[in-house]
Amino acid sequence: MPTALDDVRRELARANRILAHEDVLDAFGHVSVRHPDDPGRYLLSRSRGPELVQAEDILEFTLDSEPVVPPTRRLYSERVIHGCIYQMRPDVHAVVHHHAPSIMPFVIAGIDLVPVFHLGATMGAKAPFWDSRDEFGDTSLLVIKPEEGRSLARALGSHAMVLMRRHGATVVGANLHEVIFRSIYSARNAEHQWRAHMLGGVGALTPGEASLASGHNLQPGPVERAWEYWAGRLEKTEALVAAAKASKPAARTRPAARAKPAKVSRGAARRKKGRR
Ligand SMILES: [Zn+2]
Repeated sequence: MPTALDDVRRELARANRILAHEDVLDAFGHVSVRHPDDPGRYLLSRSRGPELVQAEDILEFTLDSEPVVPPTRRLYSERVIHGCIYQMRPDVHAVVHHHAPSIMPFVIAGIDLVPVFHLGATMGAKAPFWDSRDEFGDTSLLVIKPEEGRSLARALGSHAMVLMRRHGATVVGANLHEVIFRSIYSARNAEHQWRAHMLGGVGALTPGEASLASGHNLQPGPVERAWEYWAGRLEKTEALVAAAKASKPAARTRPAARAKPAKVSRGAARRKKGRR
């Protein structure tokens, strides 16, 4: 019989696929949730493209980012991002780390990402920057060591999102649906901010507007409405893919081969020619 934890695993797997479907994640990036019964643990997929993650890929980790059960499959190398944030932020119950194309120009150029429309306000008034070079000099850019994870968590502080120079972003939420809402709409916010800049001006929300809009959007009504929309879009795509796969054997059936002309030996050809 499926348990509540099975439901969480299924929901987390679906959250991975939603973020891939909405172009926030691609082959890389990950989503986690704090364990519903044990705040000293969290759930995260094994190392896999988020579009492919299923409930059976979800594993349990301690807040030191060690797997609870010895793993038989490869793990994400950047999982300390999740563990270190859960250690420092008891209010956080879900984390997304991504390299969404829309935010990359901002983290490469070091341009502030600010809320420019009401739904983007869930990112907060302004996302802080973290630069791995400040404390660690040259690295692979990946956040792998616990001290790197702790440094990132300190930069996040009490914010909802932290931008990572030349790397990506990490977003946190009070629950899984909230972090998905914030991740998608902060990525959309980056697209809108960039386009508005190209048109000649960015009029950011005031801190008061950002606070009021964020408070409104993060109520269960808007968050669940958006989750249902993204889950529905994903379901349609997955149904189309499943239908295409199911019809493949028939599509592969080759049309009846055309009869090849019978081979005629040279001798027979000469005899035929002679008869003309
Ligand atoms: Zn990364």
